Amino acid sequence: MNPWTMKKKEYDFAEGLKEILHKIEEYYPTFGAGQKSLIKKAFEYGKMCHEGQWRESGEPYFSHAVEATKILLSIQPDIETIIACLLHDVLEDTPVTAGELEGQFGSKIRFLCEGVEKISKVHLKKNESTARAESIQKLFIAVAQDIRVVFVKLADRIHNLETLEFVAENKRERIAQESLQIYAPVADKLGLFEFKTRISDLCFKHLSPKAYNDLEKEISKLRKQKIGFLERARKEIIKAFQKEGLDIVEIGGRQKNLASVYNKMKRKNYSSVLDVYDLFGLRIIVKTKEDCYRSLGILHTYWKPMPNRFKDYISVPKPNGYQSLHTTLLGVSGSKFPTEIQIRTQQMNQDAEFGPAAHWAYKKTRHSHFDEDYLRRTNWFPQSISQEISQTPDKFFEEISQTILADRIYVFTPKGDVETFPVHSTPVDFAYSVHSDIGNTCVGARVNGTIKPLDYELQNGDIVEILTREGRTPNPAWLEFVKSSHARSHIRAFLNKEKTEKPSPSETKVKKTTPRTRSVSPLQSLNKTGRTTMIIGGERDIPYKLASCCTPRAGQNVVAYKSRGPHFTIHKADCKQLNRLDPERFLEAYFITENKFEIRAFDRIGLTRDFSTIIADQGLNIGELNSHYEYKEEKRIIVWNFSLESVSQNEIDKLVKELKTVRNVFSVKQLT
Ligand code: MN
Repeated sequence: MNPWTMKKKEYDFAEGLKEILHKIEEYYPTFGAGQKSLIKKAFEYGKMCHEGQWRESGEPYFSHAVEATKILLSIQPDIETIIACLLHDVLEDTPVTAGELEGQFGSKIRFLCEGVEKISKVHLKKNESTARAESIQKLFIAVAQDIRVVFVKLADRIHNLETLEFVAENKRERIAQESLQIYAPVADKLGLFEFKTRISDLCFKHLSPKAYNDLEKEISKLRKQKIGFLERARKEIIKAFQKEGLDIVEIGGRQKNLASVYNKMKRKNYSSVLDVYDLFGLRIIVKTKEDCYRSLGILHTYWKPMPNRFKDYISVPKPNGYQSLHTTLLGVSGSKFPTEIQIRTQQMNQDAEFGPAAHWAYKKTRHSHFDEDYLRRTNWFPQSISQEISQTPDKFFEEISQTILADRIYVFTPKGDVETFPVHSTPVDFAYSVHSDIGNTCVGARVNGTIKPLDYELQNGDIVEILTREGRTPNPAWLEFVKSSHARSHIRAFLNKEKTEKPSPSETKVKKTTPRTRSVSPLQSLNKTGRTTMIIGGERDIPYKLASCCTPRAGQNVVAYKSRGPHFTIHKADCKQLNRLDPERFLEAYFITENKFEIRAFDRIGLTRDFSTIIADQGLNIGELNSHYEYKEEKRIIVWNFSLESVSQNEIDKLVKELKTVRNVFSVKQLT
């Protein structure tokens, strides 16, 4: 919308702030002057940053953050989450930098606001599969890193959905669809039932406006007829409970939300809303779990329960932790329609509406903590969480985020599919997950559009594309950094196959087992030890020169770039110039160094076999090999001199260590 022609509206900021402070005071008994002034500071800061910006509705932009915060307050969040919500769009939509934000409000607020900015980039494309939607739900949590970021983002999205009619029509459907497939299930999995209901209803309204309006009209007509009945039923039940001597904390009417009614009618093929027996019902809140079952006993004595309608979600909670007893009674207050009744404790009721937030410490005392029982029931949360952790919000939220993700990271394929890997995984792990052929022939990776080395550590949300080259084979050095067992076993299998197809090294004779060996010359000595060879795209004899911008050396991670001339230019993998270059023209490259070794051992049968096995198991090839005997105090000593090509000193150190463990070996030396 053109900001000059838009009809601007007034917004009462003073009233908004007052309302926020008032709501916090209601649930936060220790809300002190310091915290209050912090909220005020964040409010004024946010207002100042968004000054001169407008929503498509014509309201000042900051009104959106205020309204989102009001929505967020219904789940009774902590002070940091509230501040993050007030400032959630500052980084994305104003010139304020993360550093400035940290200077004003500290590193925690910066972290939360950056989290909101990051997850705002997680989107769902049209017509996605359910499986992918589920992965994205997890990706959402992964990118957020802290569950509180998700709380803020949900509140933000609810307000955006509430004002969606001001957004261009083509965008509207995409936002609603995405909210339905990502935001509503995330809210559900976190047990934020109230948020889930609001999101589902708003999406229903935008995606099927006619069905929504028709249903709403029909239900409000019915509601008028039902009000009298529900009030009579309520009184009858109270009377029965009084007679039996059981205290009711609260009893009231409830209405099923529109999206659920609509989905149920579609699922069960109902033609009339009257078929939805639980459209209206009553909810009874009692003190204890035992009281829930006693209540059920009373109801089933006074009224006839409908067969097969009883559900015990107390002993078998729903996956999101929801607990309640549900039963459907016939003939309540003379009604010919069945009446659905939910029975639960106060705690269960809070859980159902606010999820983990309902368990937060500040509501009780300084020493209270999350209800472990609740966490155990909710399968997105840790199976067991220690008292210590549950007492500090930072650790708690970190812990639950990590447990939801269970040490996995989520990355995208170029097509937008989500793949999941162990943390610290690399493009090689990714390549093997696509296909073993892709893994075996991979030479490089483009991550978020830029070339990264094959040992780059994948981050949540990365878009990963693998570059392959026909004829390329796995590099033994990959075994040093791959994380998935899938990739590891494929690399090993390939290397073993290659090994058995080659003649094994025999002693006493000079033998080359790597006939392709050819060192690139002229090559000044790049490494003090041994001759160095450059491998580009798996080949040895490719002309190249070293880039002058980053002067790469042996042992460093490098990439090859096909320059305009006849040769490749070798850059360090982290060279800043790389981002300016055409990503299509990169090839994987690495230095290999020929190193010479000497092993001394008291001779015994099987010694040669033992040590060549160790070398082969590391995926290394023996180049030259000579051996001779020496005698010491009448004992025969065998001395081997051999050369090997390796990628890193790390690899060599590992090998030397292994060789030293062979029985009778008393010296292993690296000569060059
Ligand atoms: Mn926003």
